[in-house]
Amino acid sequence: MQNYFASRCFLKHNLDFPPLICSVKNTEKIGAIKMIVKNFFMHLSENQLLNKAAQNYGFKLGAHSVVAGTNIEEAMGSIKELNAQGISCTIDNLGEFVHDKAEALHAKKQILGVVDAIHAHQVDAHISLKPSQLGLDIDYDFCLENIKEIVEKASAFDIFINFDMENYARLQPSFDLLEELSKDYDNIGTVIQSYFFRAEEDIQKYSKYRLRIVKGAYKEPEAVAYQTKEEIDANFIELIEYHLLNGKFTSIATHDHNVINHVKQFVIDHSIPKEKFEFQMLYGFRKEMQLELAEQGYNFCTYIPFGTDWYGYFMRRLAERPQNLNLVVKQVFTKKTNAAIGVVAGAFLLGRLTSKRF
Ligand SMILES: Cc1cc2nc3c(=O)[nH]c(=O)nc-3n(C[C@H](O)[C@H](O)[C@H](O)COP(=O)(O)OP(=O)(O)OC[C@H]3O[C@@H](n4cnc5c(N)ncnc54)[C@H](O)[C@@H]3O)c2cc1C
Repeated sequence: MQNYFASRCFLKHNLDFPPLICSVKNTEKIGAIKMIVKNFFMHLSENQLLNKAAQNYGFKLGAHSVVAGTNIEEAMGSIKELNAQGISCTIDNLGEFVHDKAEALHAKKQILGVVDAIHAHQVDAHISLKPSQLGLDIDYDFCLENIKEIVEKASAFDIFINFDMENYARLQPSFDLLEELSKDYDNIGTVIQSYFFRAEEDIQKYSKYRLRIVKGAYKEPEAVAYQTKEEIDANFIELIEYHLLNGKFTSIATHDHNVINHVKQFVIDHSIPKEKFEFQMLYGFRKEMQLELAEQGYNFCTYIPFGTDWYGYFMRRLAERPQNLNLVVKQVFTKKTNAAIGVVAGAFLLGRLTSKRF
């Protein structure tokens, strides 16, 4: 199995990257600017002060385009529409920076409510949860008990629970939770983040699980993660191919058409049936492509984030793709009544509102 990876070099896939129209010097400059912008939004995503402020400002700054409502009933409307188009959903009750038990218990109650809602509405959906939201940063055993209650209830309704992967510090504890709970439940799976050096080992170790494979959304140090797009993309492909050939069900979670086209050809070449995998994208992104893939007969699943705690999620989306700033700009500058929010957005961009974490 090890040889599958060892025998393959990174950049052999000949993916259809954009043509080199800039000089090397300009390309370097653009790359550096992109990195600065990315780092800027990653810092913002980790800022607890702004997270709280955003909750108080309400559902603004364009987040409504990529967050499917502030409560589960609103989210259910979007889910039913997508189901009607042949698209299944995975539901994320947004929540970050949970540092006390009361907050974690509140999150558990809300997610149990999502389990009930899926069952009551009989929608084609499962749940994505973040261990930190359920107390991983407070106490491992406390978190385990919280997740266990959710998994148990979901298991009774035959609902799958995905453990989303967060930053590196939470990676091994999240795998530990998965392994511990899989002794009693089989309705669980997790995520492999391709930017980690250890992802190759992890995907082999956890091949018996349903896995979502992603590039990785957090800022990670050079000591543990690939930093360049080329390296991450190439590893992403390697991991997808490996799990498609050797693993349980594979969720290929990306908006990258190059990767999607590569997978489409790979499954034909290796006679991998459509029941063995699905494509996933985030709510509000590449909507036409989501529909097109579903219409082409591929299993397709849309990630549905909802809730009032949308700030960190939204900032990570801006970090990935600064073009998403259009969402903010449209919201801020087309509504006069949003002058206050305009001030906040301006402050974001000038980097004036900073916390001790910067
Ligand atoms: C369903 C889902 C679940 C996820 N779960 C996790 C998780 O648990 N943990 C985690 O760390 N990360 C998660 N992620 C985030 C993931 O790790 C990436 O950060 C994120 O998906 C961006 O990478 P990408 O593969 O979409 O492509 P990118 O590298 O962002 O983009 C590649 C190329 O695709 C095209 N493209 C991308 N987006 C668009 C767009 N909106 N419109 C037009 N063209 C576009 C562009 O040509 C771009 O250059 C998840 C992502 C998805 C989709």
